[in-house]
Amino acid sequence: VPDSADAVLDGLDPEQREVATALRGPVCVLAGAGTGKTRAITHRIAYGVRAGILQPSSVLAVTFTNRAAGEMRGRLRQLGAAGVQARTFHSAALRQLQYFWPKAIGGSLPRLVDRKIQLVADAAAACRIRLDRGELRDAAAEIEWSKVTQTVPADYALAAAKAGREAPRDPAEIAQLYAAYEDLKRARSVIDFEDVLLLTVAVLQDRQDVADQVRAQYQHFVVDEYQDVSPLQQRLLELWLGDRDDLCVVGDASQTIYSFTGATPDHLLDFRVRHPGATVVKLVRDYRSTPQVVHLANGLLGQARGRAADHRLELVSQRAAGPEPVYAEYADEPAEAEGAARRIRELIDSGVPAAEIAVLFRTNSQSETYEQALADAGVPYQLRGAERFFDRPEVRKAGSALRAAARFGGNDSLLDDVVDLPSQVRAVLSGEGWTTEPPAGSGAVRERWESLAALVGLAQDFAAARAGATLSDLVVELDERAGAQHAPTVQGVTLASLHSAKGLEWDVVFLVGVAEGMMPITYAKTDEQIEEERRLLYVGVTRARERLHLSWALARSPGGRPSRRPSRFLKGLRPGSGTAGGRAAAGGTGGVERGFRGGGGGTEAAVPRRTRRTPARCRVCGRTLTDAGEMKLMRCEGCPSDMDEGVYERLREWRA
Ligand code: ATP
Ligand code: MG
Repeated sequence: VPDSADAVLDGLDPEQREVATALRGPVCVLAGAGTGKTRAITHRIAYGVRAGILQPSSVLAVTFTNRAAGEMRGRLRQLGAAGVQARTFHSAALRQLQYFWPKAIGGSLPRLVDRKIQLVADAAAACRIRLDRGELRDAAAEIEWSKVTQTVPADYALAAAKAGREAPRDPAEIAQLYAAYEDLKRARSVIDFEDVLLLTVAVLQDRQDVADQVRAQYQHFVVDEYQDVSPLQQRLLELWLGDRDDLCVVGDASQTIYSFTGATPDHLLDFRVRHPGATVVKLVRDYRSTPQVVHLANGLLGQARGRAADHRLELVSQRAAGPEPVYAEYADEPAEAEGAARRIRELIDSGVPAAEIAVLFRTNSQSETYEQALADAGVPYQLRGAERFFDRPEVRKAGSALRAAARFGGNDSLLDDVVDLPSQVRAVLSGEGWTTEPPAGSGAVRERWESLAALVGLAQDFAAARAGATLSDLVVELDERAGAQHAPTVQGVTLASLHSAKGLEWDVVFLVGVAEGMMPITYAKTDEQIEEERRLLYVGVTRARERLHLSWALARSPGGRPSRRPSRFLKGLRPGSGTAGGRAAAGGTGGVERGFRGGGGGTEAAVPRRTRRTPARCRVCGRTLTDAGEMKLMRCEGCPSDMDEGVYERLREWRA
């Protein structure tokens, strides 16, 4: 703990210090990835608290994920400023709602729906709309979007058309489904995630007494990742503020990756317009990543278009040089996964902690292949989403078992002979089917095992920190952590979607599936959607502190037709990929590696080997290009241009 308020400012650069000492809002920090935005606001709160200017309980810091909130609370504690509320919009709203519901509405708050997709399915059945699984998910996304943009069913069709949304069905049907879904929810007296915000907004709007009380409680507001605030969250923030403006927001328009759910960077970019007296600070020094990673990130942004891109800031790395990013091409997806797993195995064997490695992908459906490959390579891993850790059924069940064991204490024959706390926990959990060694295979079974292993790890840390701690003490600790959603870190490689990785960082990042059709994803069609995909890649790249490994596969499955190409976003940036938009090809000494599946039993890991530059090929007919003009076009002069992916495919087939 720093010994004074001023000491909290140590380790901040002059601009970060400016943020930390601007203790009265409005303050707006616009800065790129890894420039210390989150650090600056955390130190700002700590400085204010330590200097006696901010009352800890009057500060509400809003972050994007429960994990980020937990990390911020941990940092604040280390800086000697415990007691500040650091939460997500949802958890802050839920807490307020639970508190005010009995008084404002009467009774207790309806419970949160467990399986929302089932509810959507039931609603679809009720209005006789047949949807397959994919359509159900898309319909659920449409309902969610409607709610965060405060669109009622009657207005859905018009609003969706205006926003350029592609509904899985006739918009009138989606509107009907949305209405049925709301009715069903009411009938079953459950609420969904969006209702938490909607209801809080409604209560604060309608009940002056409640609004007064909340405003008396919270006087200083800080919002991280403000570029992804939804209209509904913005409304809530305004209601919390009332006519005050003690608000500090930080964000990076180039990291806007939730527009598809209705989020918009406009609030960030227009902050000064809405708050004319605001202190605006820009940060450009990147403390997270090596110059090599930063170079690629800047290159990606250099090709970006649109409003967010107009506000981009070139990052300047503050770190020593590191390895060049590795680009690896594989024949198919399993080979790509094996290649990544094998490299991860090597890194771990050479001493890199597994927790410092992440595999990031575009869609959650990709995770299965990687789980399998990591499990085969004997690499421990965890799936992101750890913020809901205490809600996982196996964790709840383990919690009750531990509680029961603690209650019986020494009567319990099972625990009588077990002397230390971690062993007691292991003994109780083995009663729940837990084994000390991980089960073979991957998927849900392995995930359950990892959750329980994390609980054992938590017990070990707890026992190490508190001599003589008992099982009852541990149970209390677990309850506290569950209340705060303060999940233990699972010691393993992180598997996460790009969306859930924002704000986080790892020494080593594997960005997988960097291919056309994945990044950008096939359903990204409009320019805006494509730009959002590019930003997503930017978010992924900037998660890496030192090593970055980008890979793609030419075919989906072994023996499949090689129909994929590396992502267009890498054009001009990866070695041998020609130039993009007239920009010179980025430097870099590495070539693109090719991974090949091993022969024999098929279990052998892929062996990537260095190759010379990949020849430029026509994207239509596949002919090797030598003419500079054609290389720039990425197609033969004679081949037709603007065609969509499907047409290229058919054309290639036809020519073959
Ligand atoms: P993102 O946009 O990804 O959320 P960010 O701008 O919030 O990034 P932080 O996560 O706050 O950046 O900081 C990135 C990394 O740089 C962290 O490891 C942080 O501790 C470190 N860092 C930030 N500022 C400094 C500094 N002045 N000196 C040393 N390290 C710093
Ligand atoms: Mg951050």
